[in-house]
Order: sequence, then structure tokens, then C-alpha cells
Amino acid sequence: MAKHHPDLIFCRKQPGIAIGRLCEGCDGRCVICDSYVKPKRLVKICDECNYGSYQGRCIVCGGIGISDAYYCAECTIQEKDRDGCPKIVNLGQSRTDLFYERKKYGNYNP
Ligand SMILES: [Zn+2]
Ligand SMILES: [Zn+2]
Ligand SMILES: [Zn+2]
Repeated sequence: MAKHHPDLIFCRKQPGIAIGRLCEGCDGRCVICDSYVKPKRLVKICDECNYGSYQGRCIVCGGIGISDAYYCAECTIQEKDRDGCPKIVNLGQSRTDLFYERKKYGNYNP
């Protein structure tokens, strides 16, 4: 199960009409703060995050979405629901690291 971490980066693009989804494991939690209490506002995500194979995917961990995602009352009061698309975009961080790693080795001439 993906755990929220300060390193996680939200997409923050202008949300479209697509509704954010959550998987079985992430169901019922606020997409911003992980709270399980007082879900308040339906999450809208940007078109890019709902494109092709991303459609219907959990916006927290990329799993198969089974329910709609919500912002909790707390985050709604703090207007965190207005910060843009809340899909986590750096789940593939290690892949980026691998790319740089490869590039580094590619330039290495013993
Ligand atoms: Zn929240
Ligand atoms: Zn997005
Ligand atoms: Zn999930």
C-alpha cells in the first residue's frame, strides 16, 4: 500500500471533468492528508491523469479504482481542493533515477 510521504509530488494541473478514483487499499481516505474521517468534496483530476490507461486508476497508488476519491472536510476548509489535480505523479521516481544512473555509466570510460 502506498503511503503518503513528504516526497510525493502532486500533479497540480488544472482539473478537468474527470473524477478521481481510489483502489480498494486507498478507499475512503483523503487524497491530500490520508484522513479517513469526514470526506467532503469529490476529487476532480486533470485530463492528462485520466488519459488512456490512467483512466479509472487509483490516483494515490495507480491501482484499479473501485470508488470515487474525496477531499476531507479539513482539506476543503484549507482550500487544498483548489490546488489543482491531486494525482501523485512521482511514483515512478526510481525509474528516473535509473535513467540518470545509466547515463552516468554510459559516460564512464575506464
Ligand atoms: Zn484531507
Ligand atoms: Zn493531473
Ligand atoms: Zn490506491
